[in-house]
Amino acid sequence: MKAKHTNSYYAASANHSFDFPTLKGAHKADVCVVGSGITGATAALELANRGFKVIVLEGKRVGWGASGRSGGQAIFGWASEQSTLEKLVGKSDARKLWDMSVDALTLTKGNIKKYNIDCDWRDGMVHLGVKPRHDRELKAWYDDLRENYDYHSLELWDQEQTREHIASDRYTSGMFDSNSGHLHPLNYTLGLVKAAKEAGVEFYEQSECKKIEHGDPATLFTEHGTVEANHVVLACNAYMDGLETKLENRVMPVGTYICATEPLGEEVTGQLMKDHISACDINFVLDYFRCSGDHRMLFGGRVSYSGVAPFNLEKAMQSRMVDIYPQLKNAKIDFAWGGNVAITLNRAPHFGRIKPNVYFAQGFSGHGIAATGMAGTLMAECIATTAERFAIFDKIPHHPFPGGRLFRTPALVLAMSYFRIRDML
Ligand SMILES: Cc1cc2nc3c(=O)[nH]c(=O)nc-3n(C[C@H](O)[C@H](O)[C@H](O)COP(=O)(O)OP(=O)(O)OC[C@H]3O[C@@H](n4cnc5c(N)ncnc54)[C@H](O)[C@@H]3O)c2cc1C
Repeated sequence: MKAKHTNSYYAASANHSFDFPTLKGAHKADVCVVGSGITGATAALELANRGFKVIVLEGKRVGWGASGRSGGQAIFGWASEQSTLEKLVGKSDARKLWDMSVDALTLTKGNIKKYNIDCDWRDGMVHLGVKPRHDRELKAWYDDLRENYDYHSLELWDQEQTREHIASDRYTSGMFDSNSGHLHPLNYTLGLVKAAKEAGVEFYEQSECKKIEHGDPATLFTEHGTVEANHVVLACNAYMDGLETKLENRVMPVGTYICATEPLGEEVTGQLMKDHISACDINFVLDYFRCSGDHRMLFGGRVSYSGVAPFNLEKAMQSRMVDIYPQLKNAKIDFAWGGNVAITLNRAPHFGRIKPNVYFAQGFSGHGIAATGMAGTLMAECIATTAERFAIFDKIPHHPFPGGRLFRTPALVLAMSYFRIRDML
C-alpha cells in the first residue's frame, strides 16, 4: 500500500495527486536528488531547467515531509538571529546571509508567478510580543534591520495597532513585514514538483534511498533499484533516517503541531486577522497562526522533543487557540496534524558537502518555507557551475602524444627541435 500524506487540511485541499512509480532496476542520471520537499523539488527543477538529467528519490510521497504540513509562513531571515550569525561568520558574511534570505522571499513569489502555482499566497506577516520585554526586543530588532540591514518593509505596531490587526487581547506589540507572507505549503511544493516533472525530472515515490556508495559517480540504492549519478543532493531535513549519520548527528527532529477549524467565512477571518496577514509570537515555544484560502483558522504551536504527538492533539491545539481567540470557542476543529522540524544547536542552517559531489541542506530550524527554496537553488547553482564551467574544458579536444607513453618524450624532443629550427629560418 502506498504511503499517504498526513491527514491534514493541506492534503484534503491538494491541487494535484501524483502517482509516481517506485524505482526498479538500474538507472543513470547527472544528478540524483533525495527528498521531494521544497528543497529537493527546487533543486531538481533548477537543474532540469539547465539541461541536467535529474532523478528524485522520495521515500514516501512527493511533498510528504514538513514542506507539505507546515504553517506556511514565508518570513525574512533565518531561524537564528542576525546577531548570532554575525558572531558565527562575521558581519560581512552575516549580511550576505541576510540578503539571501530576502532573495529567498523574492524567489518564492517569483516561482509562484513563473510556474503559475495556485497556493493562496497572501502578503503580510507580523511578529508579536506578549510582554514588555518582547516590546523592547521587537523595537531593537526593527531598528537593527532598518539601520544595519537596509530592510524597509517593516512597521512597528504598539498595542493598539496590534489589536486592530489581531483581534486578541494577548499581544502587546507587533513588528509587521509587508514583504513576508503565507501560502498553502503542500500546493506550493506540488506546484514545484509539477513544474519539475514538466521540465523532465523523473520522480520515484516509495523509493527510500537506503545507502550511498560514494564515488564519481556515486551509486544510490533503494530496495528495488539503483541510481548512478555524477552529483547527489540530500534534501531530507528532519526525515533522514539512518542514511548519513554524520548529517543526522547535527540536527534534532522536533515535532510541532497545527489545527484547522471548519471554514469560518471571509468576514469572520478578516476580523480575526485584518488583511489576512499571518502571525507568530516571539516566545521560544511559539504560537503561529493564519487563515487559509478557504477561511479557516490554522493555528500552530506546541513542540514535542520525543516526536510523540500531545495526547488528544485536536483538543490540545483547540485549547491553545481559544486562549488566544476566545471568539473561536465554538468553532469545530476539522483537522489536527503535526510534523518534524530539524533544529541545529545554534539554530543556523546547515548546508554543505559531505563529498565533493554530494551536497546537502538541512537544519532550517522551523524557518524553512522560503529558505528551502534558496537552499535548493544554491545547490543547483553549485552543481551547474561546477559541471558547466568544467564541461567547457572537457570540450577542448586533446589527442594522444604520438608514440604513446613510451615514445612520447623522444617524439616530443624531435618535434620541439623541428619547431626550434623553423624559428631560426
Ligand atoms: C508543522 C510544521 C510547521 C512549520 N511551519 C513553518 C512556517 O510557518 N514557516 C517556515 O518557514 N517553516 C515552517 N516549518 C519548517 C518548514 O516546513 C521546513 O523547514 C521545510 O519544509 C523543510 O523542507 P525540506 O524540503 O528541506 O524537507 P521536507 O519537506 O521535510 O522533505 C524531506 C523529504 O525527504 C524525504 N526523505 C527523507 N529521507 C529519505 C531517504 N533516505 N530517501 C528518500 N526520501 C527521503 C522525506 O520523505 C520527505 O518527503 C514548519 C514545519 C512543520 C513540521
